[in-house]
This record gives sequence, structure tokens and C-alpha cells, in this order.
Amino acid sequence: MGAANCSAVEEIVSRFKAMTPTSARLASTARGVFPGGVTHDSRYLEPYPIYVERAAGAHKWDVDGNEYVDYTGGHGALLLGHNYPPVVEAVRKQLERGTHFGASHELELRWGALVQQLVPSAERVRFTSSGTEATLLALRIARAATGRSKIMRFLGHFHGWHDHVAFGYSSNFEGQPTPGVLDEVARQVVLAPAGDLAETERLLDSHGDVAAVIIEPTGASWGQVPTTPDFLAALRKACTARGVVLIFDEVISGFRCSPGGAQAHFGVTPDLTTLAKILAGGLPGGAVAGKQELLDQLSFGAKPKIPHHGTFNANPLSAAAGIATLELIRSTDACQRANDYAARLRAELQRVVAEEGVGWVVYGTFSGFHIFTNPERRSITVAEIEAGLHDFRVLKAPAATGLLAKLRIGMMTHGVEIFSWPGGPTSAVHSDADLERTSEAFRLTLRALRAESAIE
Ligand code: PLP
Repeated sequence: MGAANCSAVEEIVSRFKAMTPTSARLASTARGVFPGGVTHDSRYLEPYPIYVERAAGAHKWDVDGNEYVDYTGGHGALLLGHNYPPVVEAVRKQLERGTHFGASHELELRWGALVQQLVPSAERVRFTSSGTEATLLALRIARAATGRSKIMRFLGHFHGWHDHVAFGYSSNFEGQPTPGVLDEVARQVVLAPAGDLAETERLLDSHGDVAAVIIEPTGASWGQVPTTPDFLAALRKACTARGVVLIFDEVISGFRCSPGGAQAHFGVTPDLTTLAKILAGGLPGGAVAGKQELLDQLSFGAKPKIPHHGTFNANPLSAAAGIATLELIRSTDACQRANDYAARLRAELQRVVAEEGVGWVVYGTFSGFHIFTNPERRSITVAEIEAGLHDFRVLKAPAATGLLAKLRIGMMTHGVEIFSWPGGPTSAVHSDADLERTSEAFRLTLRALRAESAIE
């Protein structure tokens, strides 16, 4: 606990600073290069983020030589962990053959065919360079097919950062556009409460001109606010009845919940699916997959045709990594192993929370875990969260100021890096030793925070 004249939380921060001097120096330089010093909002951290030098399996090492159990998992892209040898080998081979042919190539065909085989809705596939591009294209395809202008999204759900999806997932829940997004665009977006079928149907009927409903099938932010399978099935029916295109955004759940994603697991098939992350095996890449009649609007016979470009669509390196990864996911129990590890980790961390008498909740589904810091001190259980009984207002309520940074830094001082939710995706290569280290890091961090009354 805290030494004399040094609180426990201050001790966390000073210990972090003492072990990361090179990161501190790089972060200071970065503030003169990048806005906020970072290249992705989720990578922002007070007093500064670590700079990573290398990674292997479920671990990574920062520029000061500190080792961490990694729960950022390439923002969810690394189901097989860092540098999985067959994936590295496939990329290395391709690197020697060429990184961009500006032409069709056989790897893109094998990659697309794997998506077709694995993902139930994938009659046709179109590659993009990211998940954001995939949701952008899917919404455009739906609009073109229906001739309608609006899209429906669910409060708290994340679909990337383009204009139609830039608000309503962590703020601006009333639908006000975030800076730079046009009012005219925001007015075309209907925000609905996930899990509330009656209200969703009422909104669909009252707006009338909804082209597409897009949803994270495992619930907002990779299950931070879970939805139920019943809601997905009912949504499927509601969309079919109204001629609305149903889009499952499987950018994170695809090839993760199961080899065929959430749709294969739940047995609900959308009209369009957006994919990225695991799809490209840790390299950049995305895709829209779905019904042939919808995707064929991109084809050259279509009248009118939807134009679609993208310099790095289906680039050979991403294709090589993607093929190696998807083949392993198809032929091994990688998804199951990641799911099992996450289930054990959640149970262990929840046990720590209970033993330490802290009113937090650790929960999640599939290969993910979320740490709910329960800012309003509600009486709330894992079972209730999983049953979809608490909405985004509760589960995405902002934590006490600075608490999440302290939690993340505290964990790092004990050799564990969690993602900013807070929580993280797990991989097929996390081990029992990783689980033990994570549990211990969590316990020590909770104690330090509690000693400082940063938590009750
Ligand atoms: N959709 C979901 C569900 C995501 O989790 C993400 C990224 O985290 C995106 C879309 C955006 O993907 P990208 O970061 O590749 O643009």
C-alpha cells in the first residue's frame, strides 16, 4: 500500500512512470506530431500510453523491456495471438512475391471463397480496407437496393467512425451529430433502444423509409451491453416483414464467436454482414458479404451500378494473412479455446471482485470480458447483464474521473495490459499462467484503488 506521504494511487502512477521512461519520452515527442499524441482514440491514456516494441503469442514488450499479458489483441484482430507462425510464414512468402499487383490475384479468390464457406449470409463478398469502410459500403448498398434514405442503429452500438455512425455509441445519444457531421446526415439516422422490440418496430413503422437496420449481434461494443438471441431473431422477422435490409456488423464477432461468427452461433442470417479484424489475420482489411442480389449492385451489369474503389481492397499481404488465419479457424478449435479462456477469466476476476468486496461486475460473452465499475453503485448481477436487463445508460455510464486510467495503469504495473472498454478480447493462446497473472494484477490494483478510496 501507499508509503508515507505517497497515496496508493500516486504510487501506481509513480511506479508506472519509473518503469516506462522511454515511453514517456516518446509520448512527449508524439504530442508534437499527433493530436492528443495518439493515432486512435482508444490508445489515449493518462499520463501517457506505453510504446510497444514487439509482441509474441499473448504477450507484448514495451520499449523499456517490460512484458505484458496482452488483452488489446490487435483491437480484436488477433484471435490466434501475435505472430502465429503459419500466419507470419504466409505473409513472409507473399512479401517476397509482391505487396500490390494493382490487379486480380489468386489469393483474393481463395480468401473470398473462405468467407463464403464460413459465413452463412455470404453469397457474395466485396473486400474493403477496414471495418469502417465495410459498414459505409453496406449502408450504401442497402439504400441503393431499397431506394429509402434512413438507417436504423442501436444506441451504444459501434460501427466505425464514418458520418452515419459517428454518434450515439459513447455520447450524443439523442442523435445530435458529433463535430463535423452534418445535421442532414444525422437526421437520416434513427437511434433505437436495443432489446426493445416494440419500440424498434414502432420506430421502423413511424419512419417508414428505413433502408437498413445495422446491429452488433453480440450487443453494443462487443457485448458490453449484451443483446439476446431472441431479439436478433425477432429483428430478423421485423426487417423481413418491412423489406428492410438487416446488417449484422460482425467486424469484431466475425470468425470469433464461432468460425461462422455470431450469425452461425445464433442461427440468424442477416442480409448483409460487415467483416474486418480477424478476417485479415492482423493486417488491414474488411469486407461486405451478403445476398447476391444486394452485392450484385456493384457488378458491371447493374443498372445503375454502385461505384466502389479502394486502393488496398484485397491487398495480397492481407489476403495471405487472412487465408492462413481463416483456414486455422476452420480446422482447429481456436474460437472455442478463446471462448473457454474468457469464461474462466471472467469467473476468476468476478471472484476477485467479490473477495475484495468491491461493487464492480466482470462479465462478457464469447471471447471477451468487460469490467463494469458500477459508478452509480447499483445492485446488479452478471446474470441480469447477460439477460439484457440493463441498457447502455447503465453499462456505458462514465466511470469516476480518472478511474479507468488508474485501473489500466495499475494493471500494467503488474504486467497486464487491458483494453480501454475496460476489458478486452481474449485469444486462443492465452495460458493458465496468463490467467493467474491477470487475476493477481487485478487483485493488487483493486487493493491499491480501494486503499486510496478511489473505489468503494
Ligand atoms: N464495427 C465494429 C463492431 C467494430 O468493433 C469496429 C472496430 O472496432 C468497427 C466497426 C470499425 O472497424 P475499423 O476500426 O476496422 O474501421
